[in-house]
Amino acid sequence: MSALPGLREGRLANRQLLEAGRLARALAALDGDGEETRLVGGAVRDLALGEAVGDFDLATTALPEVVMKRARAAGFGVAPTGLAHGTVTLIVDGRPIEATTLRRDVDTDGRHAKVAFGRDFRDDALRRDFTINALSLTPDGLVHDYVGGLVDLAERRVRFIGQAHQRIREDYLRILRFFRFSARYGDGRLDREGFDAAIAERAGLAILSRERVRAELMKLFVASRAPQVLAAVCEAGLLQPLVAGQTDAARFARLTAIEAVGESAPDPLLRLGALGVRVTEDAERLRERLRLSNAETERLAALARGLADLHDGEAPPALGALRRLLFERRRQGALDALALFHADSDAAPDDWRFVRARAFLLSTPEPTLPITGADLVARGVTHGQRVGATLKKLQALWIRAGFPREPEALARLLDQALEP
Ligand code: ATP
Ligand code: MG
Repeated sequence: MSALPGLREGRLANRQLLEAGRLARALAALDGDGEETRLVGGAVRDLALGEAVGDFDLATTALPEVVMKRARAAGFGVAPTGLAHGTVTLIVDGRPIEATTLRRDVDTDGRHAKVAFGRDFRDDALRRDFTINALSLTPDGLVHDYVGGLVDLAERRVRFIGQAHQRIREDYLRILRFFRFSARYGDGRLDREGFDAAIAERAGLAILSRERVRAELMKLFVASRAPQVLAAVCEAGLLQPLVAGQTDAARFARLTAIEAVGESAPDPLLRLGALGVRVTEDAERLRERLRLSNAETERLAALARGLADLHDGEAPPALGALRRLLFERRRQGALDALALFHADSDAAPDDWRFVRARAFLLSTPEPTLPITGADLVARGVTHGQRVGATLKKLQALWIRAGFPREPEALARLLDQALEP
Protein backbone atom coordinates (compact mmCIF):
# COMPACT_ATOMS: atom_id res chain seq x y z
CA MET A 1 0.00 0.00 0.00
CA SER A 2 2.31 2.66 -1.30
CA ALA A 3 -0.10 5.49 -0.53
CA LEU A 4 0.50 4.89 3.18
CA PRO A 5 4.06 6.02 3.79
CA GLY A 6 4.09 4.87 7.40
CA LEU A 7 3.50 1.21 6.59
CA ARG A 8 5.37 -1.60 4.91
CA GLU A 9 3.43 -4.80 4.21
CA GLY A 10 0.86 -4.05 6.85
CA ARG A 11 3.42 -3.28 9.51
CA LEU A 12 4.71 -0.05 10.91
CA ALA A 13 7.73 0.94 8.82
CA ASN A 14 9.48 2.75 11.64
CA ARG A 15 9.38 0.68 14.87
CA GLN A 16 11.23 3.19 17.02
CA LEU A 17 8.12 4.14 19.00
CA LEU A 18 7.55 0.48 19.85
CA GLU A 19 11.11 -0.24 20.85
CA ALA A 20 11.91 2.55 23.25
CA GLY A 21 10.25 5.52 24.86
CA ARG A 22 7.07 6.17 26.77
CA LEU A 23 4.68 4.31 24.45
CA ALA A 24 6.90 1.23 24.40
CA ARG A 25 7.06 1.26 28.20
CA ALA A 26 3.31 1.67 28.60
CA LEU A 27 2.66 -1.21 26.21
CA ALA A 28 5.24 -3.38 27.94
CA ALA A 29 3.60 -2.76 31.30
CA LEU A 30 0.10 -3.68 30.14
CA ASP A 31 0.80 -6.40 27.56
CA GLY A 32 1.56 -10.03 28.36
CA ASP A 33 0.72 -12.25 31.35
CA GLY A 34 -2.65 -13.10 29.91
CA GLU A 35 -3.58 -9.59 28.82
CA GLU A 36 -3.30 -7.93 25.43
CA THR A 37 -2.84 -4.22 24.91
CA ARG A 38 -2.74 -2.29 21.64
CA LEU A 39 -2.35 1.25 20.42
CA VAL A 40 -5.69 2.24 18.90
CA GLY A 41 -7.58 4.96 17.07
CA GLY A 42 -6.13 8.19 15.78
CA ALA A 43 -2.50 7.44 16.63
CA VAL A 44 -2.45 4.32 14.44
CA ARG A 45 -4.15 6.21 11.63
CA ASP A 46 -1.59 9.01 11.78
CA LEU A 47 1.35 6.61 12.04
CA ALA A 48 0.10 4.78 8.93
CA LEU A 49 0.05 8.12 7.12
CA GLY A 50 3.58 8.78 8.30
CA GLU A 51 2.37 11.87 10.17
CA ALA A 52 3.17 13.19 13.61
CA VAL A 53 1.06 11.59 16.32
CA GLY A 54 -0.89 13.57 18.89
CA ASP A 55 -2.08 11.47 21.80
CA PHE A 56 -1.55 7.80 22.44
CA ASP A 57 -4.70 5.85 23.27
CA LEU A 58 -4.43 2.23 24.33
CA ALA A 59 -7.08 -0.48 24.36
CA THR A 60 -6.56 -3.42 26.65
CA THR A 61 -8.16 -6.66 27.76
CA ALA A 62 -7.05 -5.87 31.30
CA LEU A 63 -9.73 -4.61 33.67
CA PRO A 64 -9.20 -1.10 35.09
CA GLU A 65 -8.00 -2.38 38.49
CA VAL A 66 -5.40 -4.50 36.75
CA VAL A 67 -4.33 -1.59 34.57
CA MET A 68 -3.87 0.61 37.64
CA LYS A 69 -1.94 -2.06 39.50
CA ARG A 70 0.43 -2.78 36.63
CA ALA A 71 0.91 0.91 35.85
CA ARG A 72 1.84 1.69 39.46
CA ALA A 73 4.23 -1.25 39.50
CA ALA A 74 5.89 0.19 36.37
CA GLY A 75 6.33 3.51 38.15
CA PHE A 76 3.75 5.50 36.16
CA GLY A 77 1.40 8.02 37.66
CA VAL A 78 -2.22 6.85 37.58
CA ALA A 79 -5.43 8.87 37.41
CA PRO A 80 -8.78 7.05 37.37
CA THR A 81 -10.25 9.59 34.93
CA GLY A 82 -13.15 7.61 33.51
CA LEU A 83 -13.35 4.44 35.53
CA ALA A 84 -17.04 3.91 34.82
CA HIS A 85 -16.16 3.73 31.15
CA GLY A 86 -13.04 1.73 31.80
CA THR A 87 -10.56 4.53 31.17
CA VAL A 88 -7.43 5.01 33.26
CA THR A 89 -4.94 7.78 32.52
CA LEU A 90 -1.31 6.80 32.89
CA ILE A 91 1.21 9.55 33.36
CA VAL A 92 4.37 8.43 31.61
CA ASP A 93 7.31 10.82 31.50
CA GLY A 94 5.01 13.57 32.67
CA ARG A 95 2.49 13.18 29.87
CA PRO A 96 -0.81 11.27 29.76
CA ILE A 97 -1.56 8.06 27.91
CA GLU A 98 -5.14 6.80 28.12
CA ALA A 99 -5.72 3.10 28.59
CA THR A 100 -9.27 1.89 28.09
CA THR A 101 -10.52 -1.59 28.81
CA LEU A 102 -12.18 -3.20 25.78
CA ARG A 103 -15.90 -2.74 25.82
CA ARG A 104 -19.12 -3.20 23.96
CA ASP A 105 -21.95 -0.69 23.76
CA VAL A 106 -24.97 -2.13 25.52
CA ASP A 107 -27.25 0.85 25.09
CA THR A 108 -26.98 4.34 23.57
CA ASP A 109 -29.05 7.48 23.96
CA GLY A 110 -27.82 9.69 21.17
CA ARG A 111 -24.78 10.91 23.06
CA HIS A 112 -23.75 8.56 25.86
CA ALA A 113 -23.38 4.79 25.73
CA LYS A 114 -23.77 2.20 28.44
CA VAL A 115 -20.90 -0.22 28.11
CA ALA A 116 -19.87 -3.67 29.27
CA PHE A 117 -16.27 -4.80 29.38
CA GLY A 118 -15.18 -7.29 26.75
CA ARG A 119 -12.04 -8.98 25.47
CA ASP A 120 -12.48 -8.72 21.72
CA PHE A 121 -10.52 -6.17 19.69
CA ARG A 122 -12.84 -6.63 16.74
CA ASP A 123 -15.84 -5.56 18.85
CA ASP A 124 -13.85 -2.56 19.98
CA ALA A 125 -13.11 -1.62 16.38
CA LEU A 126 -16.77 -1.95 15.37
CA ARG A 127 -17.86 0.53 18.06
CA ARG A 128 -15.68 3.24 16.60
CA ASP A 129 -17.01 5.86 14.20
CA PHE A 130 -15.09 5.72 10.91
CA THR A 131 -13.12 2.94 9.27
CA ILE A 132 -9.92 5.00 9.34
CA ASN A 133 -10.33 5.45 13.11
CA ALA A 134 -10.70 1.74 13.86
CA LEU A 135 -7.14 0.54 13.30
CA SER A 136 -5.12 -1.03 16.09
CA LEU A 137 -1.43 -1.75 16.45
CA THR A 138 0.15 -4.60 18.43
CA PRO A 139 3.56 -4.12 20.05
CA ASP A 140 5.11 -6.27 17.27
CA GLY A 141 4.29 -3.51 14.76
CA LEU A 142 1.37 -5.25 13.04
CA VAL A 143 -1.61 -3.08 12.10
CA HIS A 144 -4.97 -4.78 12.59
CA ASP A 145 -7.76 -3.63 10.33
CA TYR A 146 -11.19 -5.25 10.68
CA VAL A 147 -13.20 -2.80 8.61
CA GLY A 148 -11.19 -1.80 5.55
CA GLY A 149 -9.73 1.29 7.19
CA LEU A 150 -6.34 1.09 5.49
CA VAL A 151 -7.80 1.11 1.98
CA ASP A 152 -10.06 4.01 2.90
CA LEU A 153 -7.14 5.87 4.43
CA ALA A 154 -5.02 5.37 1.32
CA GLU A 155 -7.90 6.50 -0.89
CA ARG A 156 -8.78 9.37 1.42
CA ARG A 157 -12.30 8.14 2.10
CA VAL A 158 -14.03 8.82 5.40
CA ARG A 159 -16.80 6.28 5.89
CA PHE A 160 -18.90 5.27 8.85
CA ILE A 161 -18.45 1.74 10.12
CA GLY A 162 -21.77 -0.01 9.50
CA GLN A 163 -24.92 1.88 8.64
CA ALA A 164 -24.43 5.64 8.72
CA HIS A 165 -28.00 6.40 9.87
CA GLN A 166 -27.78 4.03 12.76
CA ARG A 167 -24.31 5.14 13.80
CA ILE A 168 -25.43 8.76 13.85
CA ARG A 169 -28.52 7.95 15.91
CA GLU A 170 -26.27 6.35 18.49
CA ASP A 171 -24.33 9.60 18.82
CA TYR A 172 -25.23 12.77 16.96
CA LEU A 173 -21.82 14.28 17.55
CA ARG A 174 -20.73 11.90 14.80
CA ILE A 175 -22.36 14.20 12.24
CA LEU A 176 -19.83 16.88 13.09
CA ARG A 177 -17.03 14.35 13.42
CA PHE A 178 -17.89 13.10 9.94
CA PHE A 179 -17.33 16.58 8.54
CA ARG A 180 -14.23 17.19 10.60
CA PHE A 181 -12.51 13.92 9.65
CA SER A 182 -13.60 14.25 6.03
CA ALA A 183 -12.02 17.70 5.93
CA ARG A 184 -8.84 16.46 7.57
CA TYR A 185 -8.33 13.02 6.01
CA GLY A 186 -10.66 12.99 3.00
CA ASP A 187 -10.04 14.29 -0.49
CA GLY A 188 -12.63 17.05 -0.18
CA ARG A 189 -15.61 15.00 -1.28
CA LEU A 190 -18.05 13.66 1.27
CA ASP A 191 -19.01 10.01 1.36
CA ARG A 192 -22.52 9.94 -0.12
CA GLU A 193 -24.09 7.60 2.40
CA GLY A 194 -22.59 9.49 5.32
CA PHE A 195 -23.63 12.87 3.98
CA ASP A 196 -27.19 11.77 3.21
CA ALA A 197 -27.50 10.32 6.69
CA ALA A 198 -26.09 13.50 8.26
CA ILE A 199 -28.70 15.57 6.44
CA ALA A 200 -31.54 13.22 7.33
CA GLU A 201 -30.53 13.11 11.00
CA ARG A 202 -29.66 16.81 11.37
CA ALA A 203 -32.36 17.48 13.97
CA GLY A 204 -30.23 15.51 16.41
CA LEU A 205 -27.60 18.24 16.35
CA ALA A 206 -29.86 20.24 18.64
CA ILE A 207 -29.17 17.92 21.60
CA LEU A 208 -25.42 18.47 21.50
CA SER A 209 -23.80 20.71 24.08
CA ARG A 210 -22.52 24.00 22.73
CA GLU A 211 -19.05 23.26 24.06
CA ARG A 212 -18.89 20.07 22.03
CA VAL A 213 -20.20 21.79 18.93
CA ARG A 214 -17.67 24.54 19.34
CA ALA A 215 -14.78 22.09 19.81
CA GLU A 216 -15.71 20.11 16.71
CA LEU A 217 -16.27 23.18 14.56
CA MET A 218 -12.97 24.75 15.52
CA LYS A 219 -11.15 21.57 14.51
CA LEU A 220 -13.15 21.37 11.30
CA PHE A 221 -12.31 24.98 10.42
CA VAL A 222 -8.55 24.41 10.39
CA ALA A 223 -8.59 21.13 8.43
CA SER A 224 -6.96 21.19 5.01
CA ARG A 225 -10.16 20.46 3.04
CA ALA A 226 -12.36 22.65 5.21
CA PRO A 227 -13.36 24.95 2.33
CA GLN A 228 -14.76 22.13 0.20
CA VAL A 229 -16.47 20.40 3.10
CA LEU A 230 -17.98 23.62 4.46
CA ALA A 231 -19.30 24.50 1.03
CA ALA A 232 -21.28 21.27 1.05
CA VAL A 233 -22.28 21.58 4.70
CA CYS A 234 -23.50 25.16 4.35
CA GLU A 235 -25.28 24.40 1.09
CA ALA A 236 -27.17 21.64 2.88
CA GLY A 237 -28.14 24.13 5.59
CA LEU A 238 -26.49 22.14 8.37
CA LEU A 239 -24.36 24.86 9.88
CA GLN A 240 -26.78 27.78 10.03
CA PRO A 241 -28.86 26.35 12.91
CA LEU A 242 -25.72 25.75 14.95
CA VAL A 243 -24.57 29.35 14.69
CA ALA A 244 -28.11 30.78 14.42
CA GLY A 245 -27.17 32.96 11.50
CA GLN A 246 -25.93 33.19 7.96
CA THR A 247 -22.80 31.35 6.92
CA ASP A 248 -20.66 32.35 3.98
CA ALA A 249 -18.62 29.37 2.79
CA ALA A 250 -17.28 31.27 -0.23
CA ARG A 251 -15.84 33.95 2.03
CA PHE A 252 -14.32 31.23 4.20
CA ALA A 253 -12.65 29.73 1.13
CA ARG A 254 -11.27 33.11 0.06
CA LEU A 255 -9.83 33.67 3.51
CA THR A 256 -8.05 30.31 3.45
CA ALA A 257 -6.49 31.23 0.10
CA ILE A 258 -5.37 34.58 1.54
CA GLU A 259 -3.94 32.89 4.65
CA ALA A 260 -1.99 30.53 2.43
CA VAL A 261 -0.35 33.43 0.59
CA GLY A 262 0.58 35.09 3.87
CA GLU A 263 1.93 31.78 5.14
CA SER A 264 0.00 32.31 8.33
CA ALA A 265 -1.15 29.25 10.24
CA PRO A 266 -4.86 28.53 9.93
CA ASP A 267 -6.61 30.44 12.65
CA PRO A 268 -9.91 28.86 13.74
CA LEU A 269 -11.38 32.02 15.24
CA LEU A 270 -10.60 34.16 12.20
CA ARG A 271 -12.07 31.43 10.02
CA LEU A 272 -15.20 31.49 12.15
CA GLY A 273 -15.23 35.23 11.56
CA ALA A 274 -15.01 34.67 7.81
CA LEU A 275 -17.91 32.29 7.96
CA GLY A 276 -20.24 34.37 10.06
CA VAL A 277 -19.08 37.81 11.22
CA ARG A 278 -19.99 41.04 9.44
CA VAL A 279 -21.26 43.25 12.26
CA THR A 280 -20.59 43.33 16.00
CA GLU A 281 -23.93 41.66 16.79
CA ASP A 282 -22.63 38.57 15.02
CA ALA A 283 -19.85 38.33 17.58
CA GLU A 284 -22.37 38.50 20.42
CA ARG A 285 -24.55 35.82 18.86
CA LEU A 286 -21.60 33.51 18.29
CA ARG A 287 -20.54 34.01 21.89
CA GLU A 288 -23.94 32.70 22.91
CA ARG A 289 -24.14 29.85 20.43
CA LEU A 290 -20.59 28.58 20.74
CA ARG A 291 -19.77 29.67 24.27
CA LEU A 292 -16.91 31.86 23.16
CA SER A 293 -14.69 33.36 25.84
CA ASN A 294 -14.69 37.11 26.48
CA ALA A 295 -11.35 37.46 24.72
CA GLU A 296 -12.62 35.56 21.68
CA THR A 297 -15.81 37.60 21.54
CA GLU A 298 -13.86 40.84 21.81
CA ARG A 299 -11.54 39.75 19.05
CA LEU A 300 -14.49 39.09 16.73
CA ALA A 301 -16.10 42.38 17.72
CA ALA A 302 -12.88 44.31 17.02
CA LEU A 303 -12.73 42.53 13.69
CA ALA A 304 -16.28 43.61 12.86
CA ARG A 305 -15.56 47.22 13.83
CA GLY A 306 -12.33 47.33 11.89
CA LEU A 307 -14.08 45.83 8.92
CA ALA A 308 -16.76 48.52 9.07
CA ASP A 309 -14.01 51.20 9.14
CA LEU A 310 -12.32 49.68 6.11
CA HIS A 311 -15.52 49.22 4.12
CA ASP A 312 -16.02 52.98 4.46
CA GLY A 313 -12.80 53.61 2.56
CA GLU A 314 -11.06 52.37 -0.53
CA ALA A 315 -9.81 48.88 -1.37
CA PRO A 316 -7.01 48.19 -0.76
CA PRO A 317 -6.80 50.59 2.19
CA ALA A 318 -4.46 53.59 1.96
CA LEU A 319 -1.63 54.04 4.43
CA GLY A 320 -3.55 56.53 6.54
CA ALA A 321 -6.46 54.15 6.91
CA LEU A 322 -4.10 51.36 7.94
CA ARG A 323 -2.41 53.51 10.58
CA ARG A 324 -5.75 54.48 11.96
CA LEU A 325 -6.91 50.88 11.96
CA LEU A 326 -3.78 49.86 13.83
CA PHE A 327 -4.35 52.56 16.42
CA GLU A 328 -8.05 51.92 16.95
CA ARG A 329 -8.24 48.12 16.65
CA ARG A 330 -4.71 47.22 17.75
CA ARG A 331 -2.59 44.83 15.74
CA GLN A 332 -4.73 41.69 16.02
CA GLY A 333 -7.96 43.48 15.19
CA ALA A 334 -6.33 45.32 12.32
CA LEU A 335 -4.85 42.17 10.79
CA ASP A 336 -8.14 40.31 11.17
CA ALA A 337 -10.12 43.14 9.61
CA LEU A 338 -7.66 43.51 6.75
CA ALA A 339 -7.81 39.78 5.98
CA LEU A 340 -11.60 39.76 5.76
CA PHE A 341 -11.69 43.08 3.91
CA HIS A 342 -9.38 41.41 1.40
CA ALA A 343 -11.68 38.37 1.27
CA ASP A 344 -14.64 40.68 0.64
CA SER A 345 -12.87 42.51 -2.19
CA ASP A 346 -12.33 41.46 -5.79
CA ALA A 347 -8.56 41.38 -5.29
CA ALA A 348 -6.68 38.14 -5.89
CA PRO A 349 -5.37 36.35 -2.76
CA ASP A 350 -1.80 37.35 -3.69
CA ASP A 351 -2.65 40.95 -4.64
CA TRP A 352 0.58 42.74 -3.73
CA ARG A 353 -1.15 45.82 -2.38
CA PHE A 354 -2.92 43.73 0.25
CA VAL A 355 0.25 41.76 0.89
CA ARG A 356 2.09 45.04 1.49
CA ALA A 357 -0.71 46.32 3.72
CA ARG A 358 -0.42 43.20 5.87
CA ALA A 359 3.35 43.58 6.08
CA PHE A 360 2.82 47.16 7.20
CA LEU A 361 0.42 46.10 9.97
CA LEU A 362 2.85 43.41 11.09
CA SER A 363 5.90 45.63 11.22
CA THR A 364 4.57 49.01 12.35
CA PRO A 365 4.48 49.71 16.10
CA GLU A 366 0.97 50.24 17.42
CA PRO A 367 0.61 54.03 17.64
CA THR A 368 0.04 55.34 21.14
CA LEU A 369 -1.03 58.88 21.89
CA PRO A 370 2.09 60.66 23.21
CA ILE A 371 -0.01 62.73 25.62
CA THR A 372 -1.46 61.27 28.79
CA GLY A 373 -4.03 62.27 31.35
CA ALA A 374 -1.20 63.51 33.59
CA ASP A 375 -0.15 65.99 30.88
CA LEU A 376 -3.68 67.36 30.85
CA VAL A 377 -3.78 67.68 34.63
CA ALA A 378 -0.49 69.61 34.38
CA ARG A 379 -2.26 71.94 31.96
CA GLY A 380 -4.94 72.56 34.58
CA VAL A 381 -7.66 70.13 33.53
CA THR A 382 -9.00 68.95 36.85
CA HIS A 383 -12.17 66.87 36.72
CA GLY A 384 -11.66 63.24 35.77
CA GLN A 385 -14.60 63.48 33.43
CA ARG A 386 -13.09 66.42 31.58
CA VAL A 387 -9.74 64.67 31.35
CA GLY A 388 -11.41 61.71 29.64
CA ALA A 389 -13.42 63.87 27.26
CA THR A 390 -10.42 65.98 26.34
CA LEU A 391 -8.27 62.92 25.71
CA LYS A 392 -10.92 61.56 23.39
CA LYS A 393 -11.10 64.82 21.47
CA LEU A 394 -7.32 64.97 21.32
CA GLN A 395 -7.17 61.42 20.03
CA ALA A 396 -9.54 62.23 17.18
CA LEU A 397 -7.50 65.32 16.29
CA TRP A 398 -4.27 63.33 16.46
CA ILE A 399 -5.61 60.66 14.10
CA ARG A 400 -6.84 63.30 11.67
CA ALA A 401 -3.44 65.01 11.76
CA GLY A 402 -1.74 61.74 10.80
CA PHE A 403 -0.25 60.67 14.17
CA PRO A 404 2.41 63.40 14.50
CA ARG A 405 5.01 63.00 17.26
CA GLU A 406 6.81 66.36 17.06
CA PRO A 407 6.33 68.42 20.29
CA GLU A 408 5.20 71.57 18.42
CA ALA A 409 2.52 69.70 16.50
CA LEU A 410 1.35 67.99 19.67
CA ALA A 411 1.21 71.24 21.55
CA ARG A 412 -0.95 72.72 18.80
CA LEU A 413 -3.34 69.77 18.93
CA LEU A 414 -3.50 70.04 22.70
CA ASP A 415 -4.42 73.71 22.48
CA GLN A 416 -7.15 72.82 20.02
CA ALA A 417 -8.44 70.04 22.26
CA LEU A 418 -8.56 72.40 25.24
CA GLU A 419 -10.63 74.98 23.38
CA PRO A 420 -14.14 74.98 24.84
P1 ATP B 1 -7.55 13.64 16.84
O1 ATP B 1 -6.20 13.61 16.28
O2 ATP B 1 -8.40 14.70 16.28
O3 ATP B 1 -7.59 13.58 18.34
P2 ATP B 1 -8.60 11.01 17.09
O4 ATP B 1 -8.88 9.92 16.11
O5 ATP B 1 -7.63 10.73 18.18
O6 ATP B 1 -8.21 12.30 16.29
P3 ATP B 1 -10.49 11.43 19.18
O7 ATP B 1 -11.71 12.29 19.21
O8 ATP B 1 -9.38 11.76 20.10
O9 ATP B 1 -10.00 11.41 17.69
O10 ATP B 1 -11.00 9.95 19.46
C1 ATP B 1 -10.11 8.85 19.57
C2 ATP B 1 -10.74 7.63 18.92
O11 ATP B 1 -11.92 7.24 19.63
C3 ATP B 1 -11.18 7.84 17.49
O12 ATP B 1 -10.14 7.57 16.58
C4 ATP B 1 -12.33 6.87 17.36
O13 ATP B 1 -11.88 5.57 17.10
C5 ATP B 1 -12.95 6.86 18.75
N1 ATP B 1 -14.06 7.82 18.92
C6 ATP B 1 -13.98 9.05 19.44
N2 ATP B 1 -15.18 9.65 19.49
C7 ATP B 1 -16.05 8.78 18.96
C8 ATP B 1 -17.46 8.80 18.73
N3 ATP B 1 -18.19 9.88 19.03
N4 ATP B 1 -18.02 7.69 18.21
C9 ATP B 1 -17.29 6.60 17.91
N5 ATP B 1 -15.98 6.52 18.10
C10 ATP B 1 -15.35 7.59 18.62
MG1 MG C 1 -7.25 12.02 19.89
